[in-house]
Amino acid sequence: MQKQTLSFQAEVAQLLKLVTHSLYSNPEIFLRELISNASDACDKLRFEALNEAALYEADTELKVRVSFDKHAKTLTITDNGIGLSQQEAIDNLGTIAKSGTRDFMAKLSGDQKNDAQLIGQFGVGFYSGFIVADKITVESRRAGLPASQGVRWSSDGTGEFEVSEIERAERGTSITLHLKDDALDYLNAWKLKGVINKYSDHISLPILMEKEEWQEGENDQPGEMAKTGEWETVNQAAALWTRAKKDITQEQYDEFYKQISYDQNPPLATTHNRVEGSTEYTQLLFIPAKAPMDMFNRDKAAGVKLYVKRVFIMDEAQALMPSYLRFVKGVVDSSDLPLNVSRELLQESRAVKAIREGCTKRVLSMIEDLAANDAEKFATFQAEFGAVLKEGLGEDSANRDRLAKLLRFASSTTDTATVSFADYKARMKEGQDAIYYITADTLAAAKSSPQLEIFRKKGIEVLLMADRVDEWALNYLHEFDGTPLQSVAKGAVDLGKLQDDDEKKAAEEAQTHFKPMLDKLKEVLKDKASDVRATARLVDSPACLVVQDGDMSTQLARMLKQAGQVVPEVKPILEVNAQHALVKKLEAGDNFDDLAHILFDQALLAEGGLPEDPAAYVRRVNALLEKSV
Ligand code: ADP
Ligand code: MG
Repeated sequence: MQKQTLSFQAEVAQLLKLVTHSLYSNPEIFLRELISNASDACDKLRFEALNEAALYEADTELKVRVSFDKHAKTLTITDNGIGLSQQEAIDNLGTIAKSGTRDFMAKLSGDQKNDAQLIGQFGVGFYSGFIVADKITVESRRAGLPASQGVRWSSDGTGEFEVSEIERAERGTSITLHLKDDALDYLNAWKLKGVINKYSDHISLPILMEKEEWQEGENDQPGEMAKTGEWETVNQAAALWTRAKKDITQEQYDEFYKQISYDQNPPLATTHNRVEGSTEYTQLLFIPAKAPMDMFNRDKAAGVKLYVKRVFIMDEAQALMPSYLRFVKGVVDSSDLPLNVSRELLQESRAVKAIREGCTKRVLSMIEDLAANDAEKFATFQAEFGAVLKEGLGEDSANRDRLAKLLRFASSTTDTATVSFADYKARMKEGQDAIYYITADTLAAAKSSPQLEIFRKKGIEVLLMADRVDEWALNYLHEFDGTPLQSVAKGAVDLGKLQDDDEKKAAEEAQTHFKPMLDKLKEVLKDKASDVRATARLVDSPACLVVQDGDMSTQLARMLKQAGQVVPEVKPILEVNAQHALVKKLEAGDNFDDLAHILFDQALLAEGGLPEDPAAYVRRVNALLEKSV
C-alpha cells in the first residue's frame, strides 16, 4: 500500500472542531477515552479468540502501557488487543460509523462536564486526543495478519489524515500524541497516575507505566527522574465488581456508574452482591436519578452488561432484566454461562432465568429501601420511573403484589402523587368496600371528571390516574390486600353501604319514572350509545359516559386509535342525571333530538373526547343559543 492522504468524512472534521473547542477545560478525559478504547480492543481480541485461539500469537497477557518522552513531547498508549487492519484504520478513525453524530452535536450543551460524558456515549472518544495533541500517530497491526501488514495513520486533526503500510511485529495498537505546548504537564508520571486512578482504576486490564528513579545531576546539572526499564501496574487492574465491597467507596461506584451509563449525575441507588447457590454470579446494579428521553420505547436497549468469568460478552443484555426495569444500569458477571453464549441462547438458559429473577428481586428491594428510608430519593424515583414500574403489573405476575405496594398515585383529596394503596385503605370510609380510581388523559381531566361528583359529595377519596400505562396495568391488578379495585367510570355505581336507603329508593324511582324518556333517548342515540340510564353518580353535571365493567375505557380506545391500532368498537353507556335542570327541560322540550345529541357530545367533551361530527354539534348549540339570546 502506498502512502495515501485522505480527507476526513465531513462530519468528523466538524466534530473535531467541536470536541477540541468544547472540552479544552476538561482535557484529561482524553486519557480515559484512549484507555477505554485499548480495553475494548483487548475485550474484542479475547472474544474473537474464543473461536480462534491462534489470534493470541502466544501473547495472552493483555495489557495497556502508558509511556511518555519528555524530549520528543509525546505520550503513547499501547495495547496488545485486536489491532486495526489498514482498511479498519481508514474506516474507524476517519469516519464515524455510528449515526448518532448529529445527535451528539445537537446535544452539546456548553456545559463541559455534561459534554465530556457525551463524548464516550456517542463513540467519538478517539478524537478527544486532539484536545491535547496537535498531531496523533497511530501504529497498529491486526491480530492474525502478518507483520508486513501493519498500518501507520497520522493526522494533525484538521481536514486530512495519512495512512501507510508499515512493518510491525507486535500485535495491537500504539497511539502517540504529540502534545500541544499547553498540555506538557502530561509528561509527568504523577500526573498520569492521578488521571488513571480517577477514571480507569476499575478497568480490568493492568495499566503499566515505566518505573522512574531519581538521578542526581552530573557536573552541577540539576537531577531528574529517569526511566528504569522496569514496568509496574498503576491501576487496581481488577474489575470493580470483583473487588470486595468494603474496599470500594461510594465515589468509586459513582465513577463507575458514570462511565457505563454516560450519565453525569450520581445514581439514586447502588447494589453490589455476590450471589451464591445453584447459580453463581455477581451483580452490580444502579438506579439512575434521571430517566432517559426514550424510556417509554419498550424496545429500548436494556442497561445491563453481561460478563462471563470477567470476560465481556455483551452490552444491553435484555435477557437479564425484565423490560419494566429497563432503566437499571450495571453489570452481571456469571461463572455459570459458557463464554460463547449468544443472545438466542441467553433467552433459553436456566441459569439466565435464575439471574434475571435474582436481579429483579434485588432491584425491587432497592426501591423498597428508598420507599422506607429516603422520602426525597423515593419521590425522585417515582417522578422518573413510577410509570414504567407499573408495566410490571402486567409483565411480572410473580412480583405483582410487591410492585403494587411500590406504586404511588394522585388522588381527589391530595395534591401530590404520593398516595399508596395502603394509605388509601387506611383512609377508607366506614362501609366502603372498594378502592376507587379513575383513569383519564391528564390529571386535570381526571380531577374534574363528572364521574367523581358523587364521590366528592360523600367525601370518598378516588385515586386519579393519568399515566398512559395505567388502564392497561390495572387490568392485571384486581385487588390490593383483599380490597377490590373499582374504576368509577366503569359499570354502574354501586356505592353499597355508602348509600343510604332514601338515596337508593330515589335512584330506583328515577329509573322507573324516567323510563319513557330514557327509552326515547336510547332510540335517538342508538348509533352512539349502547344504553341510556339514570344515574346517582352525578351531582352537578347533566350526563356522563361510562363503559361496561371489563370494557376498554373510551380514553384508552382513543389513545390506541391514535397510535394506529385497530380497536373493537365499544359504544359507551350514557348516564343522565335526572335531577339536573337541563334533563328536566329535555323531558318537556320540543327539540328533543338536538338536545339529546348535545347531551351526548358534551359528555364526550367532558372526558377529553371529540364529537364524531363537530360541525353538527356546533350547529345544534348555535341554534339553541340563537333562541335564547
Ligand atoms: P468507540 O470506542 O465508541 O467505538 P472511538 O472514537 O473511541 O469510538 O473509537 C473509534 C473506533 O476506532 C473504535 O470503534 C475502534 O474500531 C477503533 N479504535 C480506537 N482505538 C483502538 C484501539 N486501541 N485498538 C483497536 N481499535 C481502536
Ligand atoms: Mg471509545
